[in-house]
Amino acid sequence: ALDFGMEQALKMLGIEELNPGSSTGNSWFANGEILQSFSPVDNSLIGKVQTTTKADYDKVLSTATEAFKIWRKVSAPKRGEIVRQFGQRLRELKEPLGKLVSYEMGKSYQEGLGEVQEMIDICDFAVGLSRQLHGLTMHSERPEHRMYEQYHPLGVVGIISAFNFPVAVWSWNTALAWVCGDVCVWKPSEKAPLCGVACQKIAAEVFQANGMPEGISCLINGDYRVGEYLTHDTRIPLISATGSIRMGKIVAQAVGARLGKTLLELGGNNAIIVTPDADIKMTIIGAVFGAVGTCGQRCTSTRRLIIHESIYDQVKDALVAAYNQLKIGNPLDENNHVGPLIDTDAVAMYKNALEKVVAEGGKLLVPGGVLEGEGFESGCYVKPAIAEAENHFEIVQDETFAPILYLLKYKGDVENAIAIQNGVRQGLSSAIMTNNLREAETFLSAGGSDCGIANVNIGTSGAEIGGAFGGEKETGGGRESGSDAWKIYMRRQTNTINYSTGLPLAQGIKFDL
Ligand code: NAD
Repeated sequence: ALDFGMEQALKMLGIEELNPGSSTGNSWFANGEILQSFSPVDNSLIGKVQTTTKADYDKVLSTATEAFKIWRKVSAPKRGEIVRQFGQRLRELKEPLGKLVSYEMGKSYQEGLGEVQEMIDICDFAVGLSRQLHGLTMHSERPEHRMYEQYHPLGVVGIISAFNFPVAVWSWNTALAWVCGDVCVWKPSEKAPLCGVACQKIAAEVFQANGMPEGISCLINGDYRVGEYLTHDTRIPLISATGSIRMGKIVAQAVGARLGKTLLELGGNNAIIVTPDADIKMTIIGAVFGAVGTCGQRCTSTRRLIIHESIYDQVKDALVAAYNQLKIGNPLDENNHVGPLIDTDAVAMYKNALEKVVAEGGKLLVPGGVLEGEGFESGCYVKPAIAEAENHFEIVQDETFAPILYLLKYKGDVENAIAIQNGVRQGLSSAIMTNNLREAETFLSAGGSDCGIANVNIGTSGAEIGGAFGGEKETGGGRESGSDAWKIYMRRQTNTINYSTGLPLAQGIKFDL
């Protein structure tokens, strides 16, 4: 018994009870085991997806490889036009797709819609990009020579995505890769396979309507074993993998061993520094949204607040008061702020982290806990928690993918806060709340935040698609989305053309016959 219009949404997206999980476009097939997708919202079985066997995989890869030979010759603006049409279909299907994201993954409906909006935004970006895949020209040291560089399509791009952004991460990669002339093979998270099926159907329909061959958008399904087909496959020059640091280390080794390229988007341990010059009201809104949004399951979720001792109690009290206002429940009900965690394994990790922070000497200010009773039957609903802690605690050093916020106190100058902020292995997102120019610029300077994202007077989560997205250190170093992130999806070539009648060598080397 699905409410909130889910039945209708699934119908509009073409989701069946049992869905084949391997696709080269409009052709769908599957011979593997069955993956069941249960909603963390109410524990209903939403649908089943058949996983990809090695034989299915090889069929997908050979179709993709053939499609690349055709797609790379379609002009880039024409490829952009097809991506524009794809973005248009996403606009039309924004509500059902946003609902499916919310129901299968558990984030609020507003955030589900936001995720589809990100897909639309990156399509728009990619359309413009399709006329701007620029290389440079440079002056040759040799007379009557011309030198320039150009970017060519790369090949088959393998995309491995995490459960928490079950549709947007795929589109950040595909929208750019497609205009760059690549074909894509996507393995979504085994925790959100229906989102994958829905997206693939939308893309396949658009490619077919444009008379394009099968294989430009491909889908495979299954767990890490199916992911390994991609990472070990020498036919795939680039693997873009989003997920845990543990996964990233394995993927980097597998792809590195065959000297392939990786784009890694891994875990974060994001902090907001709150200085004596912070606007407290803005700080509270930014910190609470950052910590409890998507139930703390964003790679950019705020995990640590580094607060100056002079305002520590004031911020702490305001935060505790704000947490008492939070409404937890069905994420499709727009009155609720916080939905469920993805599954009961995630709940166990949340409980373990709360025990550990206390065992290490921390103090729970908002104790958290698992919700029971009517509306919480799935066992995945937890209360967001706040703990006073120290940065060196093992549990604070790790990313727990749940709504737990650690409060850390700093003394003295902003440099001390920056040292705490940088004192973790991850380097994704960071922020400072201050109206003090010296503090803000110090935070953004070469000696400041070491993260891929550094914000002033904004929280850590909710990046726009226009900038390059990604992080340093154990976050993996990859960049996706805006700016010049497209370059990783292309191969660069330097060309020198001699239009003289001689053959002068570079560096003035003489070689006469
Ligand atoms: P996960 O690492 O468990 O799984 C991610 C994906 O990797 C899944 O599709 C999984 O099947 C696949 N996978 C796992 N092991 C693999 C292997 N050995 N070879 C090939 N594929 C393999 O992560 P998750 O629980 O789905 O997602 C949460 C994590 O993702 C968090 O750490 C979060 O910070 C991170 N994340 C990062 C970003 C970012 O942009 N930096 C974005 C979203 C999520």
